[in-house]
Amino acid sequence: MKDPNHPRVLVTGGSGFLGSHLCERLLNQGADVLCVDNFYTGSKRNIVHLLESPYFELLRHDITFPLYVEVDQIYNLACPASPIHYQYDPVQTTKVNVHGSINMLGLAKRLRVPILQASTSEVYGDPTEHPQREDYWGRVNPIGPRACYDEGKRCAETLFFDYHRQHGLRIKVARIFNTYGPRMHPHDGRVVSNFIIQALTRRPITIYGDGSQTRSFCYVDDMVEGLIRMMNTPDHVTGPVNLGNPEETSILELAERIRALSGGGSEIIFLPPPPDDPVRRRPDITLAKDLLDWEPRTPLEEGLRRTIDYFDDLLRKSPHLAPET
Ligand code: NAD
Ligand code: UDP
Repeated sequence: MKDPNHPRVLVTGGSGFLGSHLCERLLNQGADVLCVDNFYTGSKRNIVHLLESPYFELLRHDITFPLYVEVDQIYNLACPASPIHYQYDPVQTTKVNVHGSINMLGLAKRLRVPILQASTSEVYGDPTEHPQREDYWGRVNPIGPRACYDEGKRCAETLFFDYHRQHGLRIKVARIFNTYGPRMHPHDGRVVSNFIIQALTRRPITIYGDGSQTRSFCYVDDMVEGLIRMMNTPDHVTGPVNLGNPEETSILELAERIRALSGGGSEIIFLPPPPDDPVRRRPDITLAKDLLDWEPRTPLEEGLRRTIDYFDDLLRKSPHLAPET
């Protein structure tokens, strides 16, 4: 039975990096959280502390298969997010975005509940407009190694908007830019976790290319706040809305900051850049400010310190989690 004091919220991908923080915040706000995950890149380690709550439920399930549950809101986060993980099984990456989205949209349609899609700045590809605004259509290579993710997420957006137009579904599309923080997967190869682990283990910090490419890094707590605000907008607000930090940093600058904050022992080395690596990325968040009264609050230095503390603790307790190379 529906309990007005504890709205039932489904989080797909809830044991992943972003999903686990979202589940935790929703629980703290009084929600009855159903976390659905197939543990492809997620981990029980991320949500084990939530299991003792009677308002938290964990279901091992792959969303490329239909799901029949009763909930009041759906956050659709299930999808590997790091290039290493989403390129490991590219067909599955496209499937989770297309079949998975169709299944979750079907669920939202049956239940008549709002559904939020965790979309991505990757829909802009390697952009020619800077900073990226929501009305920019992007520049994506449809046949490259990143396409399974970029085109998968673009198709998911198409599906969300067609369900909205065709079936009147209440959709919320958030375009998430690079987000970092505790509980990033230690092996996912993303730049913040890679550099921190390399710096903490006094191994060379690997810059792909010359390090002049830029990204804009948002701390996870700020991102979760943005996602929840987006979900709770009035029905006519569909997005897409950019969520991210407009402060742009070069990868070389990031390497130097992480090295300094971690004790300074590592050398910085330069390796060949991966194919289709976007050169610049920075969100225009005017829309998020207007619609959600939201902007990131955590300075990069503070967010990096908290993330370094997390990995330091993780590697002390579980040294086997350090990648071998
Ligand atoms: P993550 O890999 O840590 O989390 C993804 C979660 O989805 C994992 O727990 C994984 O096991 C689960 N999952 C994957 N396939 C599934 C399936 N078929 N069925 C059920 N569960 C499945 O990644 P994240 O960084 O937490 O990203 C979460 C979402 O946010 C993703 O959709 C991602 O595309 C999006 N996003 C993240 C970022 C970022 O910087 N972290 C940026 C843009 C978009
Ligand atoms: N990168 C790097 N060294 C690493 C990992 C990543 O120089 O060890 C670079 C990567 O080439 C890209 C940027 O950092 O230019 C961000 O990479 P990430 O995989 O974190 O995310 P995305 O490319 O999806 O933004």
